[in-house]
Amino acid sequence: MRLPLDSKLPAVGTTIFTVMSQLANDCDAINLSQGFPSFDPPEALTDRISYHLKHGANQYAPMPGVPALRSALASKTLVEHGRAIDADAEITICSGATEGIFAAIQAIVRRGDEVVVLDPAYDSYEPSVTLAGGITRHVPLAIRLESGEFEVDWQRLQDAINCKTRLVIVNFPHNPTGAILSRADLDRLAAILDSSSAYLVSDEVYEHIIFDGQTHCSVLQHDALWPRSFVISSFGKTCHATGWKIGYCIAPPPLTVEFRKVHQFTTFAVSTPMQHGIADFLVAQPNFPRQVAAFYQQKRDHFCKLLQSTRFRFTPARSTFFQLIDYGDLTTATDTEVAMQWTRDLRVASIPLSVFCEQAFTGTRLRFCFAKDDATLTEAVARLHQPGSL
Ligand code: PMP
Ligand code: GLN
Repeated sequence: MRLPLDSKLPAVGTTIFTVMSQLANDCDAINLSQGFPSFDPPEALTDRISYHLKHGANQYAPMPGVPALRSALASKTLVEHGRAIDADAEITICSGATEGIFAAIQAIVRRGDEVVVLDPAYDSYEPSVTLAGGITRHVPLAIRLESGEFEVDWQRLQDAINCKTRLVIVNFPHNPTGAILSRADLDRLAAILDSSSAYLVSDEVYEHIIFDGQTHCSVLQHDALWPRSFVISSFGKTCHATGWKIGYCIAPPPLTVEFRKVHQFTTFAVSTPMQHGIADFLVAQPNFPRQVAAFYQQKRDHFCKLLQSTRFRFTPARSTFFQLIDYGDLTTATDTEVAMQWTRDLRVASIPLSVFCEQAFTGTRLRFCFAKDDATLTEAVARLHQPGSL
């Protein structure tokens, strides 16, 4: 007997990250599509994880997370953002930022609620909203004419919010555009949300990857935003360990109570030796996260220097480990066509931007991940120079 299967996510296919990484593997291409480093986490960190693997930390962790890790995160939040967090009542360790975002959405969004996201939007947001019965409203970022950089169109965001808006999701430093928010931007967001009853999910996974002396303005710093916010981050980016899938959610106690109701039945708890190892590392090297920006700035600069020899238009990324390029002077083909063709023919994989948008408005732009060793980046740009491409 064949049961009729009425999909809960009829419009959803396989995520672009899986599609492009698979194609890169099949074509033996340099994979600058899915965002992951080509180097390992610090040895001091992996040593502590090995230690805990071999010394009994192999059974279930407490549901909200190992206390030592939550306490290290509370100290980090106080030092970096000046907010005293209650590690017991306000921090939950989860299976990567993806689970944190999912759990926050399931905890807050009810059938028929509206959720506002800024396009280009990370691809897990809308399906998570749909599964909660919510409706996603997309607000495109604006593109500055002179530089091609992306920024929030505050008026459009304000216009999208109404009495049905239950949640707004923001992601700064922003994947894929590298846009960041200033303190004045946070004030603007707070003023817009002030007259609404919307909650806020702030996806800050690239909190430490921000360049040119700029600092990350976290929602954790903002007294007016904090009471309505779930701030989500991930050790995957900061520790060069995207495969570990360990993240966290910081939220005021009533929000954390609801968050944990979902988290406990999504994964219950997260890998115990990893949590202990990361806790030890953060205590021993509390400045490590703040050194990551300089490390990636050097990579960005190397990659941008190489790109100067091409006919792409680009403005160096302000944050994240992604560089956008505009290939519009070479071809009018769509970004998805170009990303596929260059993976197959030039053997360099990238991500088209239009897949992150409800209405394609990002034009002829591709995203390249520069979290790679310098030789890989050099080879990738050399391949983009093959006959017929540039
Ligand atoms: N949000 C954004 C903006 C991301 O780029 C990513 C992934 N890299 C995630 C969430 C998911 O993070 P994690 O791998 O920790 O689940
Ligand atoms: N966040 C990563 C990116 O933007 C990919 C995460 C994933 O593969 N799910 O490339």
